[in-house]
Amino acid sequence: MLLWQWFDRLLLPHICVGCGKTGQYLCVHCLDRVSFLAEPIPPPAELPRCPQLLAATVFEPPISNLIHAYKYQGITGLAATAADLMWQAIPFPPADVLTTVPTHPSKVRHRGFNHTELFAQHLAQRLSLPYQPLLVKTKPSQAQASLTDRQARLNPNHFHFATHIPPPDIAGRRILLVDDVITTGSTVAAAAEVLKQLGALKVTAVALAHGQ
Ligand SMILES: [Zn+2]
Repeated sequence: MLLWQWFDRLLLPHICVGCGKTGQYLCVHCLDRVSFLAEPIPPPAELPRCPQLLAATVFEPPISNLIHAYKYQGITGLAATAADLMWQAIPFPPADVLTTVPTHPSKVRHRGFNHTELFAQHLAQRLSLPYQPLLVKTKPSQAQASLTDRQARLNPNHFHFATHIPPPDIAGRRILLVDDVITTGSTVAAAAEVLKQLGALKVTAVALAHGQ
């Protein structure tokens, strides 16, 4: 165990997100309950230019508990657990760089950390690949509750992604686009579109979980 991990455990005892037992963020019994996905998520017919969609697990307990504790209770140590699950469960295609679906700066300030970036950084470490922030979000998303209609959620105009200025040099590069949860695929498809417009050779979307 590394020194910082020892300090981390000393200061903040790890509580299992599935059962509340002290010791690990995801105990062996709860890990047993995780539904891993063996196949890529079928791309929705409404999104003909959708990138390949990979998710490690199904968005249900204990993974939904993990994501909730990570995003809304700020237990950032869970990013390493999530990256481990993704790394072990997803047959990663060759890629040159990892990046993330961007979060609007106002949300990052409110949350105190960039949740998808932390996922991507940990995953990049596991894969020994570089992480590079390539995209920015120019407008905050509407609240999920107001987006009940599938067509509205699939509408690319709903997303406001752009690249950093000056634009990154990504022509001919294979990119892994990291998100926490993939639902319709429309978010990652919109982000992938911006990368493709800059000449990215291939974009593959990867997430910890697939939600309905
Ligand atoms: Zn447990």
